[in-house]
Amino acid sequence: MDKPTGAKLRALAALAVVALASGACGDRLVEPLVNNVYRGKNGPDRQTVKSYAEFHKSLLIIDLHADSLLWNRSLLFHSKAGHVDLPRLVAGNVAVQVFAVATKTPSATNAPVGARLPHHNPKKQRKCRRADTLNPTGLLNAVQFRPFPTWSDLEERALNQARRLRRLAKQSKLDFKAGRATAYLKVIETFKDLESVLRKRRAGIKVVGALLAVEGVHWIPKDATTAQVKAAVGRLYTAGFRMVAPTHRFQNSLGASSEGCDQVAGLTSLGVEFLRAAEAGNMIVDLAHGSDKTIKDGALPRTGPAVFSHTGIRDWCAIGKDRCSIERNPSNAAIQAVVGTGGVVGVGYWPDAVGRHWDNIVGAFAHLHGILSRPAFKKKMQRLKGKGVYDPFDHIALGSDFDGTVRVPVDTSRLIELIAALATYKGGDSGLKFSKTAIRKIAGLNACRVLASRLPRGSPQKAKELCTP
Ligand SMILES: [Zn+2]
Repeated sequence: MDKPTGAKLRALAALAVVALASGACGDRLVEPLVNNVYRGKNGPDRQTVKSYAEFHKSLLIIDLHADSLLWNRSLLFHSKAGHVDLPRLVAGNVAVQVFAVATKTPSATNAPVGARLPHHNPKKQRKCRRADTLNPTGLLNAVQFRPFPTWSDLEERALNQARRLRRLAKQSKLDFKAGRATAYLKVIETFKDLESVLRKRRAGIKVVGALLAVEGVHWIPKDATTAQVKAAVGRLYTAGFRMVAPTHRFQNSLGASSEGCDQVAGLTSLGVEFLRAAEAGNMIVDLAHGSDKTIKDGALPRTGPAVFSHTGIRDWCAIGKDRCSIERNPSNAAIQAVVGTGGVVGVGYWPDAVGRHWDNIVGAFAHLHGILSRPAFKKKMQRLKGKGVYDPFDHIALGSDFDGTVRVPVDTSRLIELIAALATYKGGDSGLKFSKTAIRKIAGLNACRVLASRLPRGSPQKAKELCTP
């Protein structure tokens, strides 16, 4: 879940209260206001998009972050609201969708005295997010009439969403078997699950893999013992979570957030313990929303790739991209550190991440390639991987943030437009072109490699075999 504006948050909160009072189904009112599709300019025309139909069909597509579980609509039916549901995933040829669970997203307030906001834009009022300000996600849970324990218990809120995804997957399989549906969802928990989804898709069966992620593990108390941290990780694992971001949009007991009120702080010792336990449990470490120092404090896994599941690029925002948020997005050093683990950067398409319209969106992908091609970094990666092996395109992926209170130029059913926009990119200042091979990697082969290496019973060798065109 990402960055609604202050005005949107106020509207969301007000509508949530109205809906609660009226007993209406809250998110039917709220979602169309916050998850919508705008008309993207400067992209390929309809005829050009059409000419990429065969290529798009041939791709393995994996998206690393959508917040669809936040909303009450059934993801098994086509909806006009939001960006993701099973029919639209099928139309977009998506093989695997990572479904993230957000439990608490306090609204931004004026920064308190002593707040440390190193990347603050001096032209804007100093704002940051604290644990104790209004939490629209909590209100939404109440107006949706989700089970009572989820109204106040954040862990229960996360586990409830995980159970909901499992129920949806089970129902979809029943519908598929009974001939009531042409596609189904399968929850991916192990390498074998991923392999099975991809094999079936190659055989023409319309199955979409769904992987559970959590952004912000806010329920671990400051004074938790090692055993309690391990138990919390164990409960997430048992519920099916395979990707974990310790923090979300405010500081918690595990560490600092890029949008919290102390953006200079990093991980706490509890945060390090949490991530080591998650890593030992074959969960994928996601550093989206972490502060820059998080990485210095030991957030990177020691045994495999980490990810930025959904992000923009601070350096891209710094060159004046309209609405692109310098604070929200990671530095070049953080990006390079994640890529140094063999991981991927899932680039999003919403304005706070990359700016508006296709030229800015595709420009951000190209800019990221530039950051990963800087001579000193390239040299370091070549030393790590062997000469001639390092390819910056191996570390770029899709991280839409669909349904995360974002405005985007396409929903998931229209991903072909993104593919065509990448394929027809003119090169900008750098002259960079996205070849079909590069687009195959960005669309899903890279994310596949990370999942297949990290999931239980996966390995880099198995990833090599599975994640081929
Ligand atoms: Zn997010």
